[in-house]
Amino acid sequence: MPRHPPIVRTVKDLRAQVAKWRQAGETVALVPTMGAIHAGHLSLIGIAKAQANRVVVSIFVNPTQFGPREDFKTYPRDEAADIETLGEAGAQLIYVPSVEDMYPPGSATRVSVPDLTEDLCGAARPQHFQGVATVVTTLLLQCAPDIVLFGEKDYQQLLMIKRLVRDLSIPVRVVSGPTLREGDGLALSSRNAYLSPDQRKIAPLLYRVISAIAADLAEGSGADDAALAGRLKLEAEGFRVDYVAVRDAETLVPLSGPLKGRARVLAAVNLGATRLIDNVPAVPRSKTKGN
Ligand code: AMP
Repeated sequence: MPRHPPIVRTVKDLRAQVAKWRQAGETVALVPTMGAIHAGHLSLIGIAKAQANRVVVSIFVNPTQFGPREDFKTYPRDEAADIETLGEAGAQLIYVPSVEDMYPPGSATRVSVPDLTEDLCGAARPQHFQGVATVVTTLLLQCAPDIVLFGEKDYQQLLMIKRLVRDLSIPVRVVSGPTLREGDGLALSSRNAYLSPDQRKIAPLLYRVISAIAADLAEGSGADDAALAGRLKLEAEGFRVDYVAVRDAETLVPLSGPLKGRARVLAAVNLGATRLIDNVPAVPRSKTKGN
């Protein structure tokens, strides 16, 4: 018996396997990834296993979500290592489609969710979320899973996908998983591999700074002041800051003044050529005490 789970590379083969499971009355979870599998991806597989009988992991480095000057060509790819790791983690099917399967010749249809994607990461990466929305919609139509898993690490993406699933009545439940971190707090990311040793040393400050903002907000600090203080701290440490923002946790509407409800602190920075993003929840103290 092969150590790794079956790999399918076409929509036809994916659908044939999923149909067999369905006939047997089994439920199916999909975990979409771009490969370069790390423990953050594996934690989503763990959640998927607990909520469905079968787990499909897709690996597809999606060209349409990269800008012309971004890292599509150099994005880390190691299919053999990924497949081995995914097998050990309990994935039961790996879907590795070709670009032609995802974007047939002449493909022109794009999905976008303007409301949630125009600012934050959408401002610096204009086509990014449209690329993600399009590829996720395609994967959902190809696989037709009962549940689909996404990480809170990409919080704006998570909210966008919840919205598109709702808006288009896609029959799938979106399940999110918490951000997995290194011991020093740095959120796991395939792009961490780009960091030089010196950059890697300061990278965990991003999490420390946004956590400090969340703590200040809990104490009653105003959202604008807390975000600005965080930005200045990051700049002083050598980060090029794209944004540090305090937003409503559901709508991503900008907040100012002391928090009244659930919020999210989100930040994107550059260390050299590497873009890092992270986010944490923030709640006013009255809510954390449950009164
Ligand atoms: P990616 O391969 O980077 O496109 O990520 C695939 C999925 O894994 C997305 O739903 C991400 O949000 C999620 N993910 C990435 N990093 C982490 C992490 N550190 N913890 C939990 N989930 C993550």
